[in-house]
Amino acid sequence: MIKRTLLLAAPLSLFAAAPVSADGHTEASADASAADLGDDPGLEVSEARLRKDMDTIVGFGTRHTLSTQTDPNRGVGAAVDWALAEFGRMGAECGGCLDVIPVGRVVEPDGRRIPAPTLIRNAVAIQRGTQRPNEVIIVQGHYDTRVTDALNGVDDAPGANDDGSGSVMVLEAARILSQREYPSTIIYALLTGEEQGLYGAGILADWVGEQGMTVKAVLNNDMIGNSCGSDGYCEPDYVRVFSEGLRADSTPRLRALQRRFGGENDSPGRNLSRWLAGVAADYPDGMQVRQIWRTDRMGRGGDQIPFLDRGYPAVRVTVSVEDYDHQHQDLRTEDGVKYGDTVDELDWTYLTRSSVLNVRALDRLARAPMPPSVRADAAVRVDTEIKWNGVEGARIYTIMARRTDETEWSKDIAIVSHGRPLPDAELDPNSEREYSFTANLRGDDWIFGVTACGGTPNSCSPFSSAVPGGAFEPVEQPETEE
Ligand SMILES: [Zn+2]
Repeated sequence: MIKRTLLLAAPLSLFAAAPVSADGHTEASADASAADLGDDPGLEVSEARLRKDMDTIVGFGTRHTLSTQTDPNRGVGAAVDWALAEFGRMGAECGGCLDVIPVGRVVEPDGRRIPAPTLIRNAVAIQRGTQRPNEVIIVQGHYDTRVTDALNGVDDAPGANDDGSGSVMVLEAARILSQREYPSTIIYALLTGEEQGLYGAGILADWVGEQGMTVKAVLNNDMIGNSCGSDGYCEPDYVRVFSEGLRADSTPRLRALQRRFGGENDSPGRNLSRWLAGVAADYPDGMQVRQIWRTDRMGRGGDQIPFLDRGYPAVRVTVSVEDYDHQHQDLRTEDGVKYGDTVDELDWTYLTRSSVLNVRALDRLARAPMPPSVRADAAVRVDTEIKWNGVEGARIYTIMARRTDETEWSKDIAIVSHGRPLPDAELDPNSEREYSFTANLRGDDWIFGVTACGGTPNSCSPFSSAVPGGAFEPVEQPETEE
């Protein structure tokens, strides 16, 4: 392994505000606030199309996982067929750029919410990356719905917000982003079986593993279409992003390392959350992120969890204020209160802005390289050697730090490049190299992170932290004992 101390490419103050040019150098900008954020596919999100898709999917009456799969006009079967066909139409508009696959299997009775063998089908479209097709970003919502009784697959269950909102966003994201090309792969997924026990997500998570894909990020959007609670409290300018602290795929060995050296606040999901908050903050008039540092809401769950269980970086994006009168409820009026997850309860401005944030984040993630795997050596020394593996497609790495009790990356350490312009990121000869940089900081007192940036503006990955369990990859599991 060749080691090489890298050159400082440019002052960090320039980099933070300025786009990175194709040759890997930063361009000075006179006014940071006026920095050109470049092509913005978020501007293409159409409220009219979101509304049209919503009307279509609510028109299936119910999308409950146990509802009919043979009726051509009603139930989850017809709804999934329509979504697959819609992905197919989008694929036709992009020269066949989408592989449309009903990823599913029959789930056996589980004694809980699957009473009989049930085919769980997800509508999945894959936009293969042009340079690193094995690297995938997944954007998903759950397509299935429910009413008060979790086993009721017969009555109308429109699921407009939960999770028709995430579903129509996924469709709109596919429509917009499939008109562009990206180095990495984007998977658009409408999952079913969520309300029966996160089944569709588990099936998709297993499937991407079987395909040997490297998962860069999972954006699970579940309820992104209302801004007020049943008590009248509203927060129209924020979505919440939930991320796990301790990794779901941790091991006794990793826990022991983290107890001693830290890492409880630096899981890949946590850094994905910080990154998403940064994307939102680049557009002060857009939807902002309130980071919630727990895996999901109190006593609740979502489709990010099966991915986390398998060691994949995942977050839940959801409304800032939940409206409990309009989720998981039979459609009815009681004491003058209308219950039910109906279209008329949606806040379309909110749903549109949430969709814009997703599209912007996906666009950046699909251009960013994988976050590198980072280590810090600071034992019995006054400085810290930060080491990381080169990643494919990276032209620049940025190193930042924060105090151990700080929440966000705050201290610029260095920008390192290959020291020369590269003709083409995919031909990067250094991708397997180990890099190192020595920071004049006492490592005991800081947490270090490294991000990898591609050759276009806003193509930097989330930070990966130099702590045990910080890498964007599943934790190595111990051999199972006989
Ligand atoms: Zn939901």
